[in-house]
Amino acid sequence: MSNQHRVSFEFFPTKTDAGHAKLLTTASKLATYNPEFFSCTYGAGGSTRDRTLNTVLQLDGEIKVPTAPHLSCVGDSKEDLRELLHLYKDAGIKRIVALRGDLPSGMGMANGELRYANELVEFIRAETGDHFYIEVAAYPEMHPQARDFEVDLQNFARKVQAGSDSAITQYFFNPDCYFYFVERTRKLGIDIPIVPGIMPITNYSKLARFSDSCGAELPRWIRKQLEAYGDDIASIQAFGEEVITNMCERLLEGGAPGLHFYTLNQAEPSLAVWDNLQLNR
Ligand code: FAD
Repeated sequence: MSNQHRVSFEFFPTKTDAGHAKLLTTASKLATYNPEFFSCTYGAGGSTRDRTLNTVLQLDGEIKVPTAPHLSCVGDSKEDLRELLHLYKDAGIKRIVALRGDLPSGMGMANGELRYANELVEFIRAETGDHFYIEVAAYPEMHPQARDFEVDLQNFARKVQAGSDSAITQYFFNPDCYFYFVERTRKLGIDIPIVPGIMPITNYSKLARFSDSCGAELPRWIRKQLEAYGDDIASIQAFGEEVITNMCERLLEGGAPGLHFYTLNQAEPSLAVWDNLQLNR
């Protein structure tokens, strides 16, 4: 593989000291591969506000990999968002992942004044001009709440028009949906990089549950194989590594500008794929 791909790793902020220590060990390992950036998720409604902030500042300042906070708008007031944006800006953070977010059920709109990610992108540009490189989410298999593909595509275009620089996709296991999505966006004149989000396969039941909730299809041939392995973790991981490596190879050969790994705070599954692909060597 060539050495021009943009590779990034995503973490989630943890609740415990032990979890945080593990995150830092993972991040230190991943840092030795010189990724373009790390990112850290944000709980909609501000539930991880301080943990996300502290994790971002630590990864960026101590592990020394440029780190992008995720920021979601659906449950936060404009005042909360403004304060966070300025904290990040003043700390020298240059990239941000702008999202609508999903509030936990029963939370309604909470304090949210912005309803969709395109409104958050506009808000970030109005508050901080061109300071941030803004990433947004893309859904090759459609956002689960979208009425249809065309409407979802138009809504994606709104985020780009509002000033996004680049997009990261929801994970998928079928590269054709990615290529189709990118082709359709290019026909609309959208030319920002659209980087596939990659979910390593390490555990069947968690993956099946998560895929259902976020609208990512777990294809039958993968599901059946994983089911058949039962508790045989080693076989699940070996199969998962092979499937994801092959998919990433196809994506990069087909023109994907890079890969964004959903690490779930684990280094090995993403690094195994990176090594197999001999990325950026
Ligand atoms: P939007 O782009 O606002 O789209 C949401 C839905 O509304 C879609 O169905 C869209 O078609 C529709 N829509 C969009 N704009 C409009 C409009 N102007 N008018 C009418 N309809 C519209 N969630 C978190 O809570 N925290 C995270 O850190 C986080 N990180 C993520 C990172 C990535 C790379 C991805 C792919 C997802 C992430 N998510 C995260 C999940 C995300 O918040 C959910 O998928 C959420 O449901 C949608 O967010 P969005 O930014 O894509 O929303």
